[in-house]
Amino acid sequence: MKIVRGREGRPSEHRTETFTGEVWGDVVLADDGMTVNSVFFGPGARTQWHRHAVAQILHVQHGRGLLWSSDEGRGVVLEPGDVAHIPAGERHWHGGAPDSYLLHLAISVGPADWLEPVSDDDYQEAVDALA
Ligand code: MN
Repeated sequence: MKIVRGREGRPSEHRTETFTGEVWGDVVLADDGMTVNSVFFGPGARTQWHRHAVAQILHVQHGRGLLWSSDEGRGVVLEPGDVAHIPAGERHWHGGAPDSYLLHLAISVGPADWLEPVSDDDYQEAVDALA
């Protein structure tokens, strides 16, 4: 058993490398090939396109966001309490809504394969499709 008390003094990380816009992350736990991150996206901020080697679970805590899968050719609006399961290899992105921040817990198993940034056009297409 391992108990993690709060953030154990770790500072929040400004995530810039594989994200667009204002994104902050707190590592809750990283162990045994599983990482749990609390991730804050400002309005319009998002991940780059990516795939997870095994799977990812997103649990939405606050705000509103978007999740888009190019493999399925569709997306969803994420609301507090929603849980999304992203299976292995699915090409997708997630982020804040245009007019709302998004705070989600991301439980990722296995490494992520980071791809290109989500263009403003791709983002707008998702916004329009989900309006
Ligand atoms: Mn993901």
